[in-house]
Amino acid sequence: MIPFFYYGLNLAFKPIKNINQNLKALGGEGDGEKAALTEGPTDVDGVIKSLEQSLILLRQKYKNLESMCIELEANRGLICYETKQFANILDSVYYGIIITDAQDNVTHINSYMLSLLDKKGEEVIDRSLPEVLDHEKILMFISQKDAIEQIGGGNYIEVTFPELAPGEVFQVSLSYLRDEERHVTGKVISTKNITREKSAESAKHEFIAHVAHELRAPLTTIKSYNELLMGGEIEDAETKKEFYNTISEETDRLARLIENLLNISKIERGSLSLNTGPLKTDAFVKDCVAAIEGPAQKKHIKIEKNMPDKFPTLVADKELLKVALINILGNAVKYTPENGTVTFSLSEQDDMVVFDVVDTGIGISKEDLPHVFEKFYRSQDHKITEQTGSGLGLAITAEIIQLHDGEIEAQSEPGEGTHFTVKIPKEQYYLGRQ
Ligand code: ADP
Repeated sequence: MIPFFYYGLNLAFKPIKNINQNLKALGGEGDGEKAALTEGPTDVDGVIKSLEQSLILLRQKYKNLESMCIELEANRGLICYETKQFANILDSVYYGIIITDAQDNVTHINSYMLSLLDKKGEEVIDRSLPEVLDHEKILMFISQKDAIEQIGGGNYIEVTFPELAPGEVFQVSLSYLRDEERHVTGKVISTKNITREKSAESAKHEFIAHVAHELRAPLTTIKSYNELLMGGEIEDAETKKEFYNTISEETDRLARLIENLLNISKIERGSLSLNTGPLKTDAFVKDCVAAIEGPAQKKHIKIEKNMPDKFPTLVADKELLKVALINILGNAVKYTPENGTVTFSLSEQDDMVVFDVVDTGIGISKEDLPHVFEKFYRSQDHKITEQTGSGLGLAITAEIIQLHDGEIEAQSEPGEGTHFTVKIPKEQYYLGRQ
């Protein structure tokens, strides 16, 4: 561009040079006559013409220069905008990014990475990568990848930053920037927080282990009691009856667990739906109580019933509502020590049928109470963990109640007991759905 510019100016000034020579010729300096004959006009008109020509050319050059400047300015603006856009994009992603040049000096870093490293942009840009990312495992990973072959990405390591982000797990991956000849021109190091994925993965493993344990426990009891009965070693009729009862209860427990598992998978798939019909609450209450009588008797827990003279009829999914109520009643027995009491009440309140389950058990702490309806949630209290359970029962119960447009609520006093209330609408529900 500079030679072109120089050439342009030279061209523009050529007429002025001519004028100069013409003036010299007019003044008779040197070989004036010869010059006048060979190099252009020798009169004043000619001089003015040359001046005019020069001015036109100059104006043109000036215009060209002006448009070049505008173009340059526009390009500079565009580059600025694109740089800003690039920085904005980098900042908008929810993981850390560091970009280096071929010499491993940091050229870009996004705000996520800056906050993870607890650094400011000016402390990082143009510094060497090891200076910025003082993390032995990551640097080792980068140099190992450099040493092998700088081919593509896909490779990553899992790291922690115990001081900067305690308890969090990150996945660091590296990819290379290349020019048209495939020469490496820089690196991109990305850091993604995978703590949630990790804990979901371990929750899944824990869940499988837990379910396997839950399934094995009743199966072992059923198998051993069955073997004793089949071996003919038990002669006493009373003991035999007790064994048969235990087998029956453990089979029910197994069936309930499988039912809960199937329901949770339906909830996950969004396919848990109601199969509604008229539900006579007297028979319903009987069925629910029958399910917990055995385990309650074993712990000498008294089941008290507070029932109305006239039982209302509901329109509901009998089987699912039974699952919901048995989960609550089962917990009341499970988490109540020997000789306690579980009270099951049924009443009507305005347009609702209300089921209350009150126990005199270990209760739920203030910290645990807001979480008991969450999937897989179990209190860490040893009084809870020593009981078998999957943490699914109340999550399923809440889902079932919600599907019935009902309400569920828990109140508790640790050491004194727990009170669950379930309200199911009668008429509105009936009129609304039929
Ligand atoms: P689990 O299989 O653990 O019983 P649930 O979903 O039925 O799962 O209950 C979730 C948690 O709520 C239990 O682990 C326990 O901590 C608490 N919980 C539920 N019902 C009671 C209760 N009646 N008394 C004390 N704690 C309870």
